[in-house]
Amino acid sequence: MEALSLTKSDWEERMLAWEQPVYRASQILEWIYQRRVREWQDMSNLPATLREKLEAEFPSARLVKIRETGAHDTTRKFLFRLSDGQLIESVLIPASPALYGEASDRRTICISSQVGCAYGCKFCASGLEGWKRNLTAGEIVDQFLQVEAEGGEKINNIVFMGMGEPMANYDNLLRAIAILNAPWGVGVGARHMTVSTSGLVPRIRDLGEQPLQVRLAISFHGATDEVRGRIMPVNKKYPIEELLAACEDYVRSKKQRLTFEFILIRDINDSLEQARLLAQQARRVNAKVNLIPYNTVEGLEWERPEDSRQEAFLKILQQAEIEATLRREKGHDIAAACGQLRLQVEKIFAPTQILI
Ligand code: SAH
Ligand code: SF4
Repeated sequence: MEALSLTKSDWEERMLAWEQPVYRASQILEWIYQRRVREWQDMSNLPATLREKLEAEFPSARLVKIRETGAHDTTRKFLFRLSDGQLIESVLIPASPALYGEASDRRTICISSQVGCAYGCKFCASGLEGWKRNLTAGEIVDQFLQVEAEGGEKINNIVFMGMGEPMANYDNLLRAIAILNAPWGVGVGARHMTVSTSGLVPRIRDLGEQPLQVRLAISFHGATDEVRGRIMPVNKKYPIEELLAACEDYVRSKKQRLTFEFILIRDINDSLEQARLLAQQARRVNAKVNLIPYNTVEGLEWERPEDSRQEAFLKILQQAEIEATLRREKGHDIAAACGQLRLQVEKIFAPTQILI
C-alpha cells in the first residue's frame, strides 16, 4: 500500500515492525498532512536510517498534474496522471454559493473515485469508455492534497462526485474518508463530505451502519422505473422502491437529510408528471432536491430543457413544499460533467504522449 493510504494505526504497526518508537508515526503524519512535505529526505526530525527505509518502501507514487482548465477565480478542473498512466479528474469550486444553494465561503473539491465507471448511465461521460480500475485510498487523498496546494487556500468541503461510482469502491472510499476526516490527517469534518451514488442499495445500507456522519446524495434522475431504467441501467438491479426503502433506513439511522440529484434532460425526464412524482418520493424520505440542467457531452444526443421548463419543474417541487434548488451557476457546468476532460485529452493525445 502506498504511504497516503495508511492510517495512523497502520503507521504505528509499521514503526513497531521496523523497531522504531511508536511516536515516529505521529511525526511522519505531521510532515505529510500538517506541513505537507512530500519528500522523505526533507523530514528532518526522522533518523537518516528511517528516511532511507521510507524512501525504499514508499517511492513517490504521487499524482502528476498534466492539464488544467478554468480561470483562477472560478471553477478549476485538473487532469491528473496516476502512476500507471491512467487519467482522472478533480474539480476545485472556490468560495461560491456551493452545490447546495446557500451562500457560503465553502471551497469544495469534487473528487474521483475510479478510473472510468462500470455503471454506464446513458447521459454520463465517465461511463462512456467503461470501467478501468478502482482508485486506491491514497490516490483519493492525494487529489485533495494536490488541489489544495494548487488553489493555495484551505478546502473545507468534499464531494465524491467526480469520475466513478464511489460506492463501488467502498473499502478504499471509507479508508480515504477516514484519512481525510482524522485530526492526524486532513481534518475535514465528516458533515462536510458528501458521497454521491447512483443507488447501490447494499452499500447505502452499509454506509448507514457506519458511525461517520458523511452526507449522502442519490443520483435520482427519474421518478418512475420506466424513465430511470431507460437512462440508468443500475435501476434494473435496484429499482426505485428498493432504493427508497434503503434511503428510509439510512435517514432513520443517521438523523441526517439526504439530497436527491435530478439532472433535467429534455424530453427524457423533464415532464411535470415526473416532478409531481419526485415531490412525493422526496417527501417520503425528507430529501432535499438538487435540480441540475443537463450538461451536454460530446458524442451524446441529450440536451437540457428550456429555462421555462426547468422553472416549471422547480415550481412543482416548491409548491409541494420540497426544499429544492436549481443550479444555474456557470461553474457547476464544468463540475457536473466529470469525465469529459479526460475524454477530450485522450482524443487529442496518444497514450504515449500523455506519459511524457
Ligand atoms: N457515480 C456517482 C458519482 C459521480 S457522478 C453518481 O452517479 O452519483 C456525479 C453527478 O454528476 C451524478 O449525479 C451524475 O448523475 C451527474 N452527471 C453525470 N453526467 C452529467 C452531465 N452530463 N450533466 C449533469 N450532470 C451529470
Ligand atoms: Fe457512473 Fe455516476 Fe456516471 Fe452513472 S452517473 S456512469 S454511476 S459516474
